[in-house]
Amino acid sequence: MATSITFLGGAGTVTGSKYLIQHDGKKILIDCGLFQGLKTLRVRNWSPLPINVSEIDAVVLTHAHVDHSGYIPRLIKDGFRGRIYATAATHDLCKILLPDTGYLMEEEAAYLNKRNRTKHKPALPLFSQAEAELSLQYFEPMPFNDRINLPGGISFEFTYAGHIFGAAQVIMKCDGKQIAFTGDIGRMQDPLLYPPAKLTGADFLVMESTYGNRLHENDSVADTLEKIICDTHARGGVIVIPAFAVGRAQALMYYLAELKKAGRIPDFPMYLNSPMAENASGLLTKYRELHRLDVADCDATCNVVRYVRSPDESRWLNEQKGPMLIISASGMLTGGRVLHHVKAFGGDQRNAILLTGFQAAGTRGEALQRGVSELKIHGEYVPIRAEVHTLENISAHADYAEILQWLEECNIGPRRVFVTHGEAVASDEMRRRLIDKFGWHAMVPDHGQTVDLA
Ligand SMILES: [Zn+2]
Repeated sequence: MATSITFLGGAGTVTGSKYLIQHDGKKILIDCGLFQGLKTLRVRNWSPLPINVSEIDAVVLTHAHVDHSGYIPRLIKDGFRGRIYATAATHDLCKILLPDTGYLMEEEAAYLNKRNRTKHKPALPLFSQAEAELSLQYFEPMPFNDRINLPGGISFEFTYAGHIFGAAQVIMKCDGKQIAFTGDIGRMQDPLLYPPAKLTGADFLVMESTYGNRLHENDSVADTLEKIICDTHARGGVIVIPAFAVGRAQALMYYLAELKKAGRIPDFPMYLNSPMAENASGLLTKYRELHRLDVADCDATCNVVRYVRSPDESRWLNEQKGPMLIISASGMLTGGRVLHHVKAFGGDQRNAILLTGFQAAGTRGEALQRGVSELKIHGEYVPIRAEVHTLENISAHADYAEILQWLEECNIGPRRVFVTHGEAVASDEMRRRLIDKFGWHAMVPDHGQTVDLA
């Protein structure tokens, strides 16, 4: 029976992941992500999918990041009524992330309407917070390493991916063919998460390539953090750390707990000002089997910060004096409470702003990395005199050398490999490396392309 794959997102870009498998009249969508970043990508969220959404039989999610899950409320709004299969931890994280995404979309639409800065009158959100909450009832939480049957003789299994909590690879079988989706692949050595599970077979492989053309620095995260914290503390300064609420914030808390335990940083107030990150941190204790921390380390990680909950507490924090440390979202300063902290503390040269990962073009985070002397926040220019640093080696993605080593240990011989989830240059370099090292038939699919899996 004919089987095909259509790349509806995540092709030539790191966002919008959506891969449609069609087999024997059945349609299964692997991931259902939002396009983010450049405007030319974001407008794709508004074009209807080139299939009748109500004909999709099921959605299978690799993990909760919104570039993999954030289109789900829209899919339901447009008529999808099937089940959404995800690991239990991914389901829990989606309960946090999807309503927040809807809330931010409503806020943005309201802002544009108020300022009259829209061609569309009125500007509308892609979906609302209420619609996102409604979409959660379609989820079907599933365990790892259990084969799940879908219509049309298709089945799949979730295996560990080590990227964030609950992140999985999807190993699909139909008609004797095995189609493996890596999802986002984590590091081979990570203090919190285990390495990705080995593939035991793949006739067809759909693999990510975020770092297809880059290697992570070898700097120790702990050493860099220690130096920045101790230097800023000695000046009586405030350290503001913009961080992604899911994954990055918990990794930072782990390093802070380790440094504190080893007496490498002073005992001083450290705050986590992100209700979303606090909820995500709570999952550390709920899913102990998914991470390496023992009970004591897990408690130390969760207790290393004081949690800031209400907007009043958040404002109170801005009136405090250093030394202190604040972790807050969003990670690229595109919105959220961290903007108020940068406004309050960015102008003082005793303070430090520590960026914690990739900063996309056009974001305030990227502007800070370029060394700007002022930043536009909430319509006004804020002077930046604080030191700006970037913590390079705290990525949740394997680099190309790690991926090649992992694939070598997997001992597979796929008939075809589709290189996805990377900027065009990164995906193409990954493709070339796969051909050079393994002699595989690898390609970078175009957006919208359909390939027969014969
Ligand atoms: Zn991800």
